[in-house]
Amino acid sequence: MTALRRVLTLVAQHRMFSIVTGLVILGGAVVSANFVAAGELSGRTVVLDPGHAGDEPGASAYGVIERESNLDIAQRVRTILEARGAHVVLTRNSEARPRDVPPEATGVTATFIDLQSRVAIANAARADVFVSIHSNSYPDSSVRGGDAWYTSLRPFAADSKRLAALCIEGVNTALQEKGYPIRAREAMDDAQFVDAAGRGTPMFVLGPERDVSRAELVERGVNPAVVGIHPDAPSWRTSATQMPGTLLELLYISNPDDAALLKDEPTRYAIARGIADGIARFLGAPAS
Ligand SMILES: [Zn+2]
Repeated sequence: MTALRRVLTLVAQHRMFSIVTGLVILGGAVVSANFVAAGELSGRTVVLDPGHAGDEPGASAYGVIERESNLDIAQRVRTILEARGAHVVLTRNSEARPRDVPPEATGVTATFIDLQSRVAIANAARADVFVSIHSNSYPDSSVRGGDAWYTSLRPFAADSKRLAALCIEGVNTALQEKGYPIRAREAMDDAQFVDAAGRGTPMFVLGPERDVSRAELVERGVNPAVVGIHPDAPSWRTSATQMPGTLLELLYISNPDDAALLKDEPTRYAIARGIADGIARFLGAPAS
C-alpha cells in the first residue's frame, strides 16, 4: 500500500477445530471417520487475509499489483501450513472481495464492508491466529524491506506482538537465505503510530471495536470516502478480530528491486515459507 494508503489502511483495518467428522456408508454399515490432517499443526486454525480486492487493488508498480501478489503469497502459505496439518481459511480466494459479508451497514460502502468481512470471517472460523498479507509503497522509491504490525490495544497484545515478530523473523531468514540484503524492521505497534496530538487510528482488522468519527479522520487528513464512509455518515462502529493478529508489509512495490523480487516465483515461495515458519513457531511447532 502507499504511504497514504497505509494511513488509510490503519484506519480501515488499518495490520478450532480442523477436525472434520464424516459419516461414510460402506456396505450398509455406517462408519464414523474423523478426517484429521496429519501433522503437528492439526487442530489449529489459521486465517490468512490477502489485502485488497476487486476495484481496490492496493499498491501497484513495475508490473506488480498488490491485490494479486498478496493473494498468491497467501495461497502459498496455505499450501505449506495445510501440509503440516493446519486448517487454513483465506478471507478471499480470488481477486473479488470477501464473500462473507456482515449484516448490511448504513453509511458505508463496499470498501468498509470488505474490511469488516475479513474480521467476520476470522471470527467465524474461530481462528487461532489472523495474518493479513500486504506489500508496501512509498513516494521515495529507494525505500525497501518489510514490516510487521500489531496493536497493543487488545487483551492479547503480547501474543500479537510475538506472532508479528516470529512472522517477520521467518521472512527475514527465508529472504536472507536467498541473498536479500535488508533485514525487515522489528514488530511495530500500530498504537504508537500517532499524529502530532498523540491520536492514533487503529487498523480495522487488528484494532479494537470502536466508534470512529468522520471528524477524527478529516482532522488526520484521511478522506473518509476512501475507507468506505458515505459523505453524510458522522461516525460508524468497527468490529474486531478476537484472536492474536499481525499485518505484514512484504517488501516495497515502489522499489524496482523489491518489485522484481515480488514477481519472482522462488522469492514468493521464500516469503511464504517464512510466514508459515513464523506462524508454526507461534503455534508451538518448529520451523520447517
Ligand atoms: Zn496493502
